[in-house]
Amino acid sequence: MNTALVIDDDPVVRTLLVHTLRDANWTVLEADDGDRGVELAIQHRPDVIICDLLMPRFNGYQLCRAIRSNQSFFPQPRIIVISSSNYAADRTNSIEAGADDFLLKPVKPVELLHLLELESGTTFIRKTPAISKGATPPDTTYFRRAIGSPPTVRFWGVRGSIATPGESTLKYGGNTTCIEVRADGELIVLDAGTGIRNLGRKLAAEFKTQPIELTILISHTHWDHIQGFPFFIPAYNPQNQVRIKGYEGARVGLQSVLSSQMESPYFPVSMQQLSGYLKIEELKEMQFNIGKVKVTVAFMNHPGICVGYRLDTSGGSIAFLPDNEPHSRLRMAPVTDSAQSYEVLAFAQKQDEKLIEFIRDCDIVIMDSQYDAAEYRSHIGWGHTCVDDAVALAVIAKVKKLYLFHHDPDHDDAKVDSMQDWARELAAIHGSPLQVEAAREGVEVVLNRAAK
Ligand SMILES: [Zn+2]
Ligand SMILES: [Zn+2]
Repeated sequence: MNTALVIDDDPVVRTLLVHTLRDANWTVLEADDGDRGVELAIQHRPDVIICDLLMPRFNGYQLCRAIRSNQSFFPQPRIIVISSSNYAADRTNSIEAGADDFLLKPVKPVELLHLLELESGTTFIRKTPAISKGATPPDTTYFRRAIGSPPTVRFWGVRGSIATPGESTLKYGGNTTCIEVRADGELIVLDAGTGIRNLGRKLAAEFKTQPIELTILISHTHWDHIQGFPFFIPAYNPQNQVRIKGYEGARVGLQSVLSSQMESPYFPVSMQQLSGYLKIEELKEMQFNIGKVKVTVAFMNHPGICVGYRLDTSGGSIAFLPDNEPHSRLRMAPVTDSAQSYEVLAFAQKQDEKLIEFIRDCDIVIMDSQYDAAEYRSHIGWGHTCVDDAVALAVIAKVKKLYLFHHDPDHDDAKVDSMQDWARELAAIHGSPLQVEAAREGVEVVLNRAAK
């Protein structure tokens, strides 16, 4: 005779299950909480454990993990989790915790007995993997034609660090980093901060039933650059193709960083459950093409792995450097005990020269300008640029138009206005034709015009 252990804090449910099993000739043990359940399980080694998910003191996930991690418990029992929760995430989490099957409450006796006759794991069989590999991608000819011309850059999120909605940021916007570039039949999204949510809504409304194909380039995986992705509607539509490209982080890979922010308990839908044709690619090369758009990459001076992208399109060139702290400025700062050696400063200068080459002659440069010069003094080593340095770099590199970017969450519209005024004044002092704008959410720039 087989032994079953029923654990549920609801006496009605428990009694029903116990009777059902006894009538079917099972030896049944019962417990009204998880603590007692684990005790009985270890003592009596049942063949099957039927366990409620939400119980006081020790929940179903904890019970699954406690049983599965008990090496001496061999052979391991079959665990059937029962719950009134019909959310996919709760099922997924149950499997991860170690459950074999999942039954939705109210459990019908016949259903339970039927499940016990079937092989373990029956209720968790996946039909098809959600992230398609090798499937034929949908036809996006219409989409590519529709985004053909003119080439444009549109700001969907310009704020750094954290989203800052409210009265004081109405003019420049409170969403974090996201920029849309349409050029040469490609839709390229630079970073997936909270601004990507509105971009997704716009694309869904614009293309309705037509399949969408786009590439998201990730500069780095700090929150303000990835947090909007779970809310990007096109990734939920099976006919859309979303490619995400970026570089491996210091501790874990890109895919793992992006998918872990969608795991329970942070988010109700896992990346595996997204039905779009999703491809995450970890980049190795510092130069590649997206269709006809040439992409060049440079490492930025910012905590962790962070890159800037330069896109050369038929309509003009765009450089995107959302988070960066110039080397010379950082190394010259009096933060160390002794004065910096000439070698150190020379090295720092070389690094900045590389950055200047990277953005040289660009039509549009979108650059970190989080602080004013006075604020920078108390933020040395935080990985961001002050507006004076952003202007200097752009002037030396003969950039045509500079967009001040990654606005500080503490900066209201008036402050950003004043930084823009100061940046324009600086360009004039340098005698440079450089145009300067503070990046503003919702603004669209036509590339051909910007190139003039
Ligand atoms: Zn940032
Ligand atoms: Zn960052």
